[in-house]
Formats: sequence, C-alpha cells, structure tokens
Amino acid sequence: MKFYSTNRQVPHVDLADALLEGQAADRGLYMPLQVPSIADIISRAKDLSYPELAAQVLSLYADGVFSRAEMEDICADAYNFEVPVEPVIGRRHILRLDCGPSASFKDFAARFMGRALGRLVTARGRELLILTATSGDTGSAVAHAFLGVPGIRVLVLFPTDEVSDRQRRQMTTLGGNIATISVSGKFDDCQALVKRAFSDPDLSGLQLSSANSINIGRLLPQSVYYIYAASRIADIAGGEKVIISVPSGNFGNLMGGVLAFRGGLPVQKFVVATNANDEVPVFFQTEQYRKIEPSIVCLSNAMNVGHPSNLARLVDLYGGHLDEKGVLHRVPDMAAIRRDFYGVSISDDATRDTIGRVFRETGVMLEPHGAVGWAGLERFFESHPELADCPALSLETAHPAKFPDEVIRLTGTAPTLPDALKGLDALAERYDHMAVDYAAFKQILLEKYR
Ligand SMILES: *Cc1c(COP(=O)(O)O)cnc(C)c1O
Repeated sequence: MKFYSTNRQVPHVDLADALLEGQAADRGLYMPLQVPSIADIISRAKDLSYPELAAQVLSLYADGVFSRAEMEDICADAYNFEVPVEPVIGRRHILRLDCGPSASFKDFAARFMGRALGRLVTARGRELLILTATSGDTGSAVAHAFLGVPGIRVLVLFPTDEVSDRQRRQMTTLGGNIATISVSGKFDDCQALVKRAFSDPDLSGLQLSSANSINIGRLLPQSVYYIYAASRIADIAGGEKVIISVPSGNFGNLMGGVLAFRGGLPVQKFVVATNANDEVPVFFQTEQYRKIEPSIVCLSNAMNVGHPSNLARLVDLYGGHLDEKGVLHRVPDMAAIRRDFYGVSISDDATRDTIGRVFRETGVMLEPHGAVGWAGLERFFESHPELADCPALSLETAHPAKFPDEVIRLTGTAPTLPDALKGLDALAERYDHMAVDYAAFKQILLEKYR
C-alpha cells in the first residue's frame, strides 16, 4: 500500500515513511492511494476481539512494512483495555473510548503509533523527535504511549489556559523522554509553531516527526473502533446501516470513520458534531470555507479548533482541494458530502443541558465532548424521524473524571476516578513556559535537541 500527499507534489511513500515523516514535504497530508476493501473483515467482525480486528484492518495498510505477526503483536500490546458499547435508549448507544491509560480516545492512535514507530526507529538505527501540539488530550495520550520508547523523544506544546488541571498533569508528571511547554496562546498557535518547525530547513537535521492527526498513523487505527462497535449493534455483515455521531475538532476521529466507510462499512450518516467552532458544519451548508480565527474557547476544550487540518483529507476524498492555509482551490462534491454527513454545532449551554438531562433520564454520565456528540445525534433524529429505529452510535471520547467540576455541578454526582487518573494530583509537575514566539521555540529546539 502506498500513500500520496493531498498537495500531490511529492512521490508516493509506504507506511513506514508516512509514519516517520508525519507531514509530507509539500505540506500536504498523506492518504492511502486506494482505501482497501474491508468487506471480508466485516463479514466476521462480530466474532473478532478488538486486538484481532485491529490487526486485520491495519495489516491492509502495512504490507512490506510490518508482517501480519508483527501487527498482531503491536495490536495485542496496544489494545489491552476495554472498549464498551453501552445501550442508552432503544438502539442508540454510546461507544466508550475512554478506558485507555490517558482516558481519552486518543490512546487508540497513540498506542499504535508508539509501538509502530518504536519498531521502525530501532530497525533503522535512527532517533526521532516527536513534536506535538495538543488541545488537551493528544499530549497526554502521546506522552503515555511513547514514555520509555528507545530512540524517541517527545516535546508537547499546550495552550496554558485551555487545558484542564488533570489534562495538564497527565503530561507534565511523566518525565523521562517526555518534555512539555506551556504556551501563552491558543491551540491554533501551538499547532502553527509546530507546523512551522516542520517546514524550517534549519531544523531538518533534527529528525522531526509529528504525532498530531496530520500523521496518517493517527487515522488508520481510528477506523477500527467504528467497525468493532457497528458489528456489536447491527447486522453489518448483512448490510444493515448505522448512524454514527462524532464529536469533532481537528476531524482526525471522523476521518478514521470515513476510511472504514470507504472500505465498505455500512453507514447511513455521519453526524459531524462540533462546538461553537462551526466552520465545518457551515462549510457543508454554504459551500464557503472560512476558518475561525482565533478559535472560540468552549467547554469541550479538545475541540476548540478553528481550522481543522484533517478537513483537507475529507475534501480530497470527495474530489476537491483545500490547501494547508485554508484556501479552497477546487470545490468537492458537495451533494455527496451532504448525503454522507450531517453537520451540527452545539453550544456550551446545550452541552451542559445534555449532560444534566441524559444523567437524570438514563443514568449515563457524559462529559462535554461526548455530550456534544449525543446532542448532535438527538438533533439529527429530530430532523429525520423516519430513521428513528436505525441503530446508532455516539462516540464518548473522554472520561467524565477528566472534567470533574463541570460534571459534578451538572449531575450532582462525582464521576468515579479511573485507575489512569488516580494519584495524579500528588505527583510533581515539570514544564517550561513560552510566549507565542517562533524564534524562541526554534532556539529551544536547537539548544536542547540538536
Ligand atoms: C481530540 C478530541 C476530540 C476531537 O477529535 P478530532 O479527531 O480532533 O476531531 C474530541 N474529544 C476529545 C475528548 C478529544 O480529546
């Protein structure tokens, strides 16, 4: 399997080079030349364990890079936690992606990447510096997944005021090969610093790679849980279609689902649920793309993204071209986009209302991101009553205990602390601080990492 860049100015690469490079040299994003068919896998998905399913799906992209046996090892080791699919009302379910070591769905991709990249750098005798910008959860998932991996160092940039206390502690208390910088800016500022470092020729000696969702290694593992969960609630082998709501920020999660869909997963509709950063739902409706600068600070902080990098991939898959600056050079097939996606923006008020109401009515505790997904699903069913009996999934992307203050206020109940978050408050934190200043960032990179 080869991968091309959405800007189409560089040669095709295999999975190893796509993982190691992160972003292509022409600043495009890597995509598989052909999305492989998963028809065979779908016919037996419901009998496969999560790690078995993951190994089968990911092997489709990895020929010549990882053998099937290696992929089975990687997946058995990476996916050693529960992936609960819980009924809420009728055939509507939540898919709980919060049972990994950092209690967010980003563990699924980060744990695959940590293991895959660890093997690649060891085999090639190389060293790698993973630079990553986080709006809250990528940083901790990546930090946990790469902690102690030989040959790899990690530097995480996070926006000082936009991550919760617990999210920050999950990154700043690890030490070892993991370093963190708090940036007095927004997530978009952190992302811009990281992107600029990638294209800076003065830093080409550093062997930089990215664990942001610009790396294709972040998307491929995220297609697996769509197949897994759909197989648990519907007869997908018989072609029964599922409605799936995805709380979205940078659209990496959604793109995982879209790859599964292109490969043959029967999906009726993806509900694309954002917070007030609604540039994508607006784009679906108006066909005009306008990034939101600066991005709007919302309760669902990991989705405060005003110019999602993965939108370029979605536009590309539907025949358009959006460049990294947000300029739409070719309009994608908007009729097909509207057939496959239902965009909806959920306010913070509606998010809070959903957390309180769903808890009172069903006993299910949501956190702000999952609540955006659930509210989006409710809106979809309100406008499509004819589909009321379709099986549906809403993705719960983080554990409620990551946002204890808000959840306690809205439900009157303290979320139980998962093991992953126990003891955090007592550990010592270590991190640097920086203004939004590329020159200062570059100096740190050159001084500490050359
Ligand atoms: C990152 C994140 C999101 C958004 O996912 P994208 O892939 O960026 O769309 C949603 N919820 C949580 C909890 C996250 O950490």
